Amino acid sequence: MRWLTHIAFATGQLAITQDGRTEVYSVSPLNNDFGSLAVRMEKSSDPDATYDILVDEQSVSCSCPGGTYRGACKHASAVLALAARSEL
Ligand SMILES: [Zn+2]
Repeated sequence: MRWLTHIAFATGQLAITQDGRTEVYSVSPLNNDFGSLAVRMEKSSDPDATYDILVDEQSVSCSCPGGTYRGACKHASAVLALAARSEL
């Protein structure tokens, strides 16, 4: 994954490649009351695919079907990887 436009510009463009397919997401910060990291990802090719990812000290969650039912997804993984690289 790599930034096309960094999130510091309010809405970033993030490319995520999984299983050989690349999807581009618009990523924007979410205001939240928890003092934790929260972002919204909207798939550029499908605006209905808009997911919120919330990171706290213990866990990460995503509102997509994979994140909701399996507890893991590429959105959450991407946000954790970006946070680890201090890119959020
Ligand atoms: Zn997800």
